This record gives sequence, structure tokens and C-alpha cells, in this order.
Amino acid sequence: MTDTKRLRIAIQKSGRLSTDCQNLFKQLGIKLNLREQKLIAHSTNMPIDILRVRHNDIPGLVMDGVCDLGIVGENELVEMQAERQRLSLPSKVNKLAKLDFGYCRLALAWPQELGLIDKNWFQDKKIATTYPAILSEYLTRENISASLVNLSGSVEVAPRAGLADAICDLVSTGATLEANGLMQGETIMESYACLIQSPTLDCSNKSALIEKLLPRLKAVKQAKE
Ligand code: ATP
Repeated sequence: MTDTKRLRIAIQKSGRLSTDCQNLFKQLGIKLNLREQKLIAHSTNMPIDILRVRHNDIPGLVMDGVCDLGIVGENELVEMQAERQRLSLPSKVNKLAKLDFGYCRLALAWPQELGLIDKNWFQDKKIATTYPAILSEYLTRENISASLVNLSGSVEVAPRAGLADAICDLVSTGATLEANGLMQGETIMESYACLIQSPTLDCSNKSALIEKLLPRLKAVKQAKE
């Protein structure tokens, strides 16, 4: 059973953010035994437990107060907030810090053979994405009426598979888009990993531990600049 007196931090179990999260814990002096493929890793030198979960589960775990802190991409945080607001579920978090890893852009892309296009091209088109709330907000702002195809992965193959005319997906180098014959367009959102805290955290020992960790985090960031 989980000890509720220990600070619970949710991180991605395996994926683009997991190694950076583990390195960050090392830099903060948090010793962990992450060798086993376990859901929970206990720190051996601080009252901290690390929950290793799917990336898109992190915002909800923190919003519901199941975990005290989480490290998550802003893209996932913003999307989940919109989704949970729609479902009338708790959607608040305190953003404690923007971290210096996990950079990516949520951008529009379309088949290269179309060449350069302007925003009007998207009118009445089908756009595949994993981030329907962020994309809908952008389309409304730009007065574009397009239909969305929600996919949880492999968005970049949607045009070639005939599922959509264009996509809106995460990009860092652009190599995946290029490999799939897509041309990158406007950036809808820029994202970094961030440290979030549950708004329901009301344990003084946990708050004191967070207060101790935050200056260390700042020092780690400054040392890299
Ligand atoms: P999981 O595998 O945990 O279910 P996932 O498939 O969304 O989640 P990743 O592909 O590892 O996992 O992406 C996790 C996060 O990493 C993204 O939501 C984003 O914040 C960040 N990220 C950084 N660079 C990229 C990139 N080039 N493509 C996708 N995500 C990126």
C-alpha cells in the first residue's frame, strides 16, 4: 500500500521524457532504484515515491490529487485540461516550473506535393490529430471550419492512408514529417516539459520538501545556462 506521507511524483514510464526525468532526479540528489520495471520506485534517501505511468495519465493523476507532483509536456497538460473541463472533472494544477527538456512544436502539416498553401486551404478539410482540443481552439480562432480525425498515434501516416487531408502533430526536428512526405506549416503551440503540483496538496511535510527541492531545481537549470 502507498504511504500517503511520502511525496508522490508521476513521470512517464518509458518514452521521450523518461530519461530526462530520471537525470533530473539524479541532479536534484534524489536517489532511486529504477532498475525494476515497477509502477512505483521508492527513493532511498528522501520520502519520495515515483509513479511511472503513461504520459497522458499524468495530468489527471495530479488534477485528482492521486499524485502530488508530475512532470508532463505542456501539450498534454493543455489538452487534458480542456478535455476534463468538457467532462466537468477537476482540471486545475499549479505549474511550478518549466523544465529544460521535452521541447517540441504542435504544427500543421500536409502532403509535400501540394507545395506551399495558405490557411484557407484547410476550409472543409479533414485534419488528423492527437490534440483535438488545442487544434479546435486554433481553428475557431482562425475562422477555419475543418473536421477532425482523432488518432492516438501514427498521425503522420493519416494522409497517405486516406484518413485525412492534413495533420496536426508534434514535431521536433521535422525528420518524421519529411520521411512521410509531409511539409511542415504553422506552429500552433510550443511545448516543454513542466513540473506541476496538485492544487489539493495540504500536507506541511510534503510542502516543506517541495520548498527544499525548488531552489535545487533552479540551481540545476542555471548551471546549464
Ligand atoms: P506514452 O508512450 O507514455 O503513452 P506518448 O506516446 O505520448 O506517451 P512520447 O512519444 O514519448 O509518448 O511523447 C511524450 C511527450 O514528449 C510528448 O507529449 C511531448 O510533450 C514530448 N515530445 C518532445 N519531442 C517530441 C517529439 N518530437 N514528438 C513527440 N513528442 C515529443
